[in-house]
Amino acid sequence: MPLDAQQKHGGAKHGAARVAERVAALNARYRHHGATAVLEHALNDADLGQVALVSSFGAESVVLLHLVSVIAPQTPVLFVDTKMLFQETLEYQRQLAESLNLCDLRTIRAPKSRLDFEDPDGTLHLFNTTACCNVRKVEPLEHALAPFDGWITGRKRFQGSTRAAVEFFESENDLRIKVNPLAHWGREDIEEYMINNRLPRHPLVAKGYPSIGCAPCTTPVAPGEDPRAVRWRGSAKAECGIHTVGVTARKDSTA
Ligand code: SF4
Repeated sequence: MPLDAQQKHGGAKHGAARVAERVAALNARYRHHGATAVLEHALNDADLGQVALVSSFGAESVVLLHLVSVIAPQTPVLFVDTKMLFQETLEYQRQLAESLNLCDLRTIRAPKSRLDFEDPDGTLHLFNTTACCNVRKVEPLEHALAPFDGWITGRKRFQGSTRAAVEFFESENDLRIKVNPLAHWGREDIEEYMINNRLPRHPLVAKGYPSIGCAPCTTPVAPGEDPRAVRWRGSAKAECGIHTVGVTARKDSTA
């Protein structure tokens, strides 16, 4: 008999405990811990199962990539290449993979057949960003995450009011655990960590891009502007769809 979703994602190990119940227990246990303790638990506790880091190799990604490379460098790192990324992002990704010795980097792309069908001339983003994000990001990531019990993201509370309550651990539809080790870090913590560890910045940060996604949907920030306003400028779109657990609307910097 095939395992049902709960058994597949740890139900057998945890009796009848649902993912949501395990997440509540983990948040209670780690309430007073820091990012490193949460990440060490996610990466080293067999009870959590198979966990991957999902990274956009964007403006702040190097912090989590560095932490993972120190704690458990064998961790699979999933990078969604929408084929709409800046050339600078692709070069930065190659640079970091080498300098941080990321030994299981997996580049995820939509199948050519899906792109040929949904976006044959590469202009879908001009008139339907939701459909474009879905075919280029959401579907490939969902497929890539299927064998995993959990995934690690770089979401932080300071990134906006809709993220103000992000917890270390979240239940993703009661199937997978999402881990947000940097949930309580502030912008200054990110900066300090990069400086102290001499980590290279994404080259577009110096050119005025505080948040970096696909080239057609990312613009430089204007003086005094909210850094999260640079994505899908002029559009009502607020997120790409890969983070929808417990969220109504927000800008999504890991997209
Ligand atoms: S961010 Fe823009 S180009 Fe990238 S997948 Fe979404 S709509 Fe398409």
